Amino acid sequence: MALLDFTYLARPARVVFGAGSLQHLEREVLALGTERALVLCTPGQRAAAEAIAARLGGRAAGIFDGAVMHVPLEVAREAQAMARALRADCAIAVGGGSTIGLGKAVALDSDMPIMAIPTTFAGSEMTPIYDLTEGGLKRTWIDPRVLPRTVIYDPALTLTLPVDVAVTSGINAIAHAAEGLYARDSNPVAGWMAEEAISALARGVTGIHANERDVEARGLALYGAWLAGTVLGTVGMALHHKLCHTLGGSFNLPHAPTHTVVLPHVLAYNAAAAPEAMRRIARALSTDDAALGAYMLAKDNGAPVALRELGMAEKDLDRAADIASANPYWNPRSINRASIRSLLQDAFDGRAPGSSLG
Ligand code: NAD
Repeated sequence: MALLDFTYLARPARVVFGAGSLQHLEREVLALGTERALVLCTPGQRAAAEAIAARLGGRAAGIFDGAVMHVPLEVAREAQAMARALRADCAIAVGGGSTIGLGKAVALDSDMPIMAIPTTFAGSEMTPIYDLTEGGLKRTWIDPRVLPRTVIYDPALTLTLPVDVAVTSGINAIAHAAEGLYARDSNPVAGWMAEEAISALARGVTGIHANERDVEARGLALYGAWLAGTVLGTVGMALHHKLCHTLGGSFNLPHAPTHTVVLPHVLAYNAAAAPEAMRRIARALSTDDAALGAYMLAKDNGAPVALRELGMAEKDLDRAADIASANPYWNPRSINRASIRSLLQDAFDGRAPGSSLG
C-alpha cells in the first residue's frame, strides 16, 4: 500500500441535478442575486435557449445564438458586447463544451456570474480551463474566474442529443477520468470520483445506445460527466489530452470522436507504467483490460475506432507525431517520437490497442 501524500483543491460550484431540474431555473437565477440573464447557445440550440428565456420571462435580457466550436475570439467579443449592450448581469450557457466555453469567455470579460446548463457530457462546466481561438490558433488557459457558479444538470435536456454524439461525448468524459487516475497530481478524492465517473458513463452510454429515450441512462451519463469534469478541473492531464489537442487543433478532427478513437491506444501505451490506474479503469468498465475495454465500449456502441474514419490523412501522421512529442505533457510512461508515431498508426488503422507495442 502506498503512503498517502497529496494536495486536494475543491472547486466550488452549486450543482442541481435531476430529470426535470430545469424547473428550478428561476430559483437558481435569484440565488445568484441577478436580475437580467443573457442566454448563450449555438445556432442549432436556439429553441432550447428560447425555452429558457421564456421560463425567465422579464429576467431574460436576450439570446446570443452564435456559439461555435473552439470559441473564436471574435465570437467571444460579440457575446461580451451584447452582454454589455443589454446590461445583462448574468449569463446562462445552455449547450455543450462550445457554448460553455463561450460562457467562460463572457465571465472573464465581465466578472458576471455564469450558470451552465450542459446538454452534452463534455464536462467543461466543472473546469477552470478555457480556450480562445485567434487566427486559427486555439490557445488554452486556466483561470478560476471562468468557473460557472451554478450548474443545472437535467438529463431530459440531453434527449435531443443524437445517439452517436452521446456515445462519443460520454467516452470523451471517460478520457478525463481515466487520465485523472494516473495524473501526477492525482489524489484519493479525484480517484474515487474518476472510477465512479467511468462506471456511470460506460453504463450510461451503453444504455443510451440500447434505447435513445432512456432518461435513466442519460442521467447516468450526465452524472458521470459531472464527476469526470470535476476530475479534469482538479488534476493535470497527460498524453491522451496532448494527442487529442494536437489532432483537434492542428488537423481539425472532431473533438469527442477523436477522444474516443485515441483513448484505448493511450491506455495500452501507459498500461505497464500505471498498473493500479488500469486496474481501476478496467474494474469501472467491468472488464479485465482497461485499453481493450475502452476499445470495445466504442465498438459495441457504434462509435468510430479509427482516425481514418474521422477524416485524418495518413500522410499527416508524421507531422502529428512531431507536434505531439514536442513539449509533451507529463505522462506516466516516457514519450518519444517513434512510440507516438506507432501509437498514431494503430489509432489511424483502428487496430486493437497495443497492436504495435513492443
Ligand atoms: P459542442 O458543444 O461543440 O456540441 C456539438 C454540437 O451538438 C453543437 O452543434 C451543439 O449545438 C449540439 N448539441 C449540444 N447539445 C445538444 C443536445 N442536447 N441536443 C442536440 N444538439 C446538441 O460539443 P462538446 O463535445 O460538448 O464540446 C466540445 C468543445 O468543448 C471543444 O471545443 C472542447 O475543446 C471543449 N471542451 C472544453 C473543456 C474544458 O474544460 N475547457 C472540456 C471539454 C470540452
